[in-house]
Amino acid sequence: MNRPFPTFLEIDLNALEANFLHLKEKLAPKTKFLAVIKAFAYGSAAAVVAEKLESLNVDYFAVAYTQEGAALRKAGVKKPIMILHPQVQCLEQIIDHCLEPCIYNFEVLKAFLAEAQLKKQRKYPVHIKFNTGLNRLGFQDDQAQAVAKVFDRQDVLYITSLLSHLAASEDPEEKEFTINQVRKFESINDQFIASLGYQPIRHLCNTSGILNYPEAHFDMVRSGIGLYGFSNDPEKHAGLKPIASLKTHISQIHHVPSGESVGYNRGHVCTEAQSIAVVPIGHADGIGRQYGKGKGQMMVNGQKAPIVGNVCMDMIMLDVTGIACSEGDLVEVFGQHQTAEELAEGAGTISYELITGVSSRVPRVVLP
Ligand SMILES: *Cc1c(COP(=O)(O)O)cnc(C)c1O
Repeated sequence: MNRPFPTFLEIDLNALEANFLHLKEKLAPKTKFLAVIKAFAYGSAAAVVAEKLESLNVDYFAVAYTQEGAALRKAGVKKPIMILHPQVQCLEQIIDHCLEPCIYNFEVLKAFLAEAQLKKQRKYPVHIKFNTGLNRLGFQDDQAQAVAKVFDRQDVLYITSLLSHLAASEDPEEKEFTINQVRKFESINDQFIASLGYQPIRHLCNTSGILNYPEAHFDMVRSGIGLYGFSNDPEKHAGLKPIASLKTHISQIHHVPSGESVGYNRGHVCTEAQSIAVVPIGHADGIGRQYGKGKGQMMVNGQKAPIVGNVCMDMIMLDVTGIACSEGDLVEVFGQHQTAEELAEGAGTISYELITGVSSRVPRVVLP
């Protein structure tokens, strides 16, 4: 295979399509699908991911911040884009780029209403988020009537959807807590629509919610990690395929005698003669120091090569003793042979952190 760059993140849109269809199969035919493409589509390539999902007729997109949504509009994305965490200083840009804020408190609600009035909007779509137990963003349940009242007296804004977010949908031990969140969401919705007079789209589930709580899909689901090939539960990965593979290659191999050390601070001391391969990827590319000293490994010609010593900014050293390999050989950091989840686990973190952390220095290569 010809290699375009020394280190690159390969994006497989066929895997994305398969994941999307696999998740969609879990839904009732009328349930809408919102694709979460925040943080550059979980570190992959937001514009191409969005384009692919639009071609598959996804219903909605969501990103965390306004600038992410504005960038997608500039890239030509046409479907509705929800901004999960709008900031008051960005509200004008939201309207300018036809983005839809997810409103979580009265400050943002009042400021956005004022901005929409100023820009002479009518029935501008907004989403209202309630806190049902995560205690992150959202109105409290006892504010439901007061929120609905704001919409009583104007038609500048229109509530397209009502949402909340689950705290522990991946954890079977927290089933009771999660079911309580589902009930709370239902009761807030009932109170809310009694005052509002119409039923917005209801949505609560993230990827693990989709897989573990089919009774809580409501009118729409929001999937991020599942689209990228993970699900928080290895058993449920079946049918999902990672879309991103991080690849690098061997720059140099040293045969280091016993007693010598490798890398900064002499982070590794050889207790026997070892073959050490240097790869052009480091913490500036998103493989942090927590992967050093054997906590992480990379796949060299199908075999696991542990990271030795400290991770440098631009380089990592691997123990390739006993592995048939040469300078120039391809190395998989994560992908088909070792998933991002497996690599992350060894360093005490999760796939979400590893895949979203691949830095902008690493070129994204979309497979044909
Ligand atoms: C990030 C996010 C999601 C996506 O969650 P996954 O576990 O990646 O599917 C859904 N909803 C909200 C509010 C989020 O912030």
